[in-house]
Amino acid sequence: RLVLGIETSCDETGAAVMDETGVILGESLHSQKEVHLKTGGIIPTIAQQLHRENIGRVVQEAMERSSISPSQLSAVATTVKPGLALCLGIGLDFSLSFVKKHQKPFIPIHHMEAHALTVRMLQPVVFPFLVLLVSGGHSLLALARGIDDFLLLGQTLDEAPGDAMDKVARRLSLIKHPKCSTISGGQAIELLAQDGDRLKFHFRPPMGAHYDCNFSFAGLRNQVKMTIQKKEAEEGVEPGTLLSCVNDIAAAMQHTVAFHIAKRTHRAILFCKAQGLLPSFNPTLVVSGGVASNQYIRKTLKIVTDATGLDLLCPPSKLCTDNGVMIAWNGVERLREGKGILSYTDVVHYEPKAPLGVDITAEVE
Ligand code: ATP
Ligand code: MG
Ligand code: FE
Repeated sequence: RLVLGIETSCDETGAAVMDETGVILGESLHSQKEVHLKTGGIIPTIAQQLHRENIGRVVQEAMERSSISPSQLSAVATTVKPGLALCLGIGLDFSLSFVKKHQKPFIPIHHMEAHALTVRMLQPVVFPFLVLLVSGGHSLLALARGIDDFLLLGQTLDEAPGDAMDKVARRLSLIKHPKCSTISGGQAIELLAQDGDRLKFHFRPPMGAHYDCNFSFAGLRNQVKMTIQKKEAEEGVEPGTLLSCVNDIAAAMQHTVAFHIAKRTHRAILFCKAQGLLPSFNPTLVVSGGVASNQYIRKTLKIVTDATGLDLLCPPSKLCTDNGVMIAWNGVERLREGKGILSYTDVVHYEPKAPLGVDITAEVE
């Protein structure tokens, strides 16, 4: 059985053809990252236009590389939630006409569920396992109990860590920095932090008085921006031209982001253990999302998982960010279990907002 997966929820147009065992037969990905880097953030109408211009070619490429014809597909799986409405619409419209034309079953996919399950494509991680998803649009901790059964332990109350780092990078005009002109804000912060001293600045860790698993990065982002402003004033330089202590600021911010993520993750582990929600054999933490490629954050998480006896698994960076492969894989998992498979005649809508699973407040004093 073969599945075509299609992703357009944010700034990547992705498609992949996969067989039932998780082998990728063909894939294609068009990233809008560079365009959005120039405009300083994603403008939904521009993202939509780029999806519209690229989706036909991306799907065709994935199909051609797999050397199969549409008639050989068992189903088409497409992200329908959550994401940018205008972008989800392009993927859904394209997919619905594709399945109608070829009379194939359609599998609507939850983008965050797909991120959470991608690891199972690479190794047989059994349910239940803990998932940390940290990206430009999300920050959440969940317990995966089955392919469509998630407990949401905590999520960000304002913005995501990648977003906070992207904003600080923009405030520092890192795009003009010779080493950072083509990389994301988060990657730029990690790169600069390597030559910085995190102890030169102190940022208050977020939510110190809240004993739950939720996240907050807006206050930290603001603290960092205020420090930048203060330093610019002290040195009498124009906004966005600070040079002297940029590495130290990056290092201190990265440390506080890592600390906050690790703190919430540790609490989620303690909560799950106390509630008997994790298996006693090989309990696992899976980390995914663009921010998961940050080595400092990974190392900090490793300290937490070592101390609590969990295995730490991070899929390779390429699979941590948005792509068609993870959508195809979620389609494969659903096809195997016969869950959520629709007919090409069914009416399907996209949902820009869609929580991952059942929301429980996980608190540990
Ligand atoms: P989502 O997947 O939640 O819809 P997204 O498309 O912004 O949102 P990804 O593509 O998974 O998320 O990741 C991009 C984000 O990850 C950006 O905010 C980027 O700054 C951040 N990021 C990428 N690499 C690193 C890194 N090495 N360190 C920190 N952050 C990083
Ligand atoms: Mg993305
Ligand atoms: Fe994503």
